[in-house]
Amino acid sequence: MYLILFGAPGVGKGTQSKRLSREFGIPQVSTGDMLRQAIKTESELGSQVKSRMERGELVPDEVILSLIEQRIQEPDCSKGFILDGFPRTIPQAEGLGQLMQKLSLPAFRCIEIYVPDEIIIRRLSERKICSSCGTDYNPILNPEPADHICIKCGGSIISRNDDTDQTVRKRLDIYYSQTANVKSYFQQRGMWERIDGNRNVNEVYNDLLKLI
Ligand code: AMP
Repeated sequence: MYLILFGAPGVGKGTQSKRLSREFGIPQVSTGDMLRQAIKTESELGSQVKSRMERGELVPDEVILSLIEQRIQEPDCSKGFILDGFPRTIPQAEGLGQLMQKLSLPAFRCIEIYVPDEIIIRRLSERKICSSCGTDYNPILNPEPADHICIKCGGSIISRNDDTDQTVRKRLDIYYSQTANVKSYFQQRGMWERIDGNRNVNEVYNDLLKLI
C-alpha cells in the first residue's frame, strides 16, 4: 500500500499513520520525525533545519526531496509506506511524481484528514510528545503519566518547540498559503479522498480502513 495522509498540523496524521503502519506492516515515513531526529542527533542536517523548524517555517524542498528519496529506497519500504507530512508544496508533489516514475512505484492513495482550525489550535496547545520515541500524548486520548516519563520507552515527555500558540498559527498560515494547493494537484489526478478528523480517534481510524 502506498498512501499519503494529508492535512494541516494537528489533524491526527501521525496518530493514524502509526496505527495503519502497525496494521499493514509498512513504515510510516514522517518528514517531521526524520528532521526532529536529525536535530536530536546534532547532525549537519539537524543544524541546517533547526531554526526554521522552531520558527514553524518549511524546510527547503530539495532537502526534503533528498531525504524522501533515500528513505523510500530502504528495504522496509519495499512493500509500501505511509507518507505523513509530505508532500507539503507543489515542487514536493512534482518531485514525488518523478520519484514514482523513476522507482516504478504504483499510484498513491491520497487521503486528507480535515479538522477545523479552532480545534487544531486547541489540540496542539495540549499536545505533548516523548522526546525519545515520539509517542504522542494528549489529555483526552492518551494522557501523559504524572511523572512525565514515556510508558513505551522511559523517555521524557515534553512539548514540541513548535507547538507554541504563535508558531502554531504561523504553521497554519503556511499550510493554507503553501500546502493546501497540493490538494488541487492530486485532485486533478483523481487521487484525492477526504475524511472528517474531528471525531474520536477510533472512528477516524475505521473510516480510513473503509477507504483503504
Ligand atoms: P510535522 O511534524 O509534520 O508537523 O513537521 C514539523 C516541521 O518540520 C514543519 O513545521 C517544517 O518545519 C518541517 N517539515 C516537515 N515536513 C516537511 C516538508 N514536507 N516540507 C518542508 N518542511 C517540513
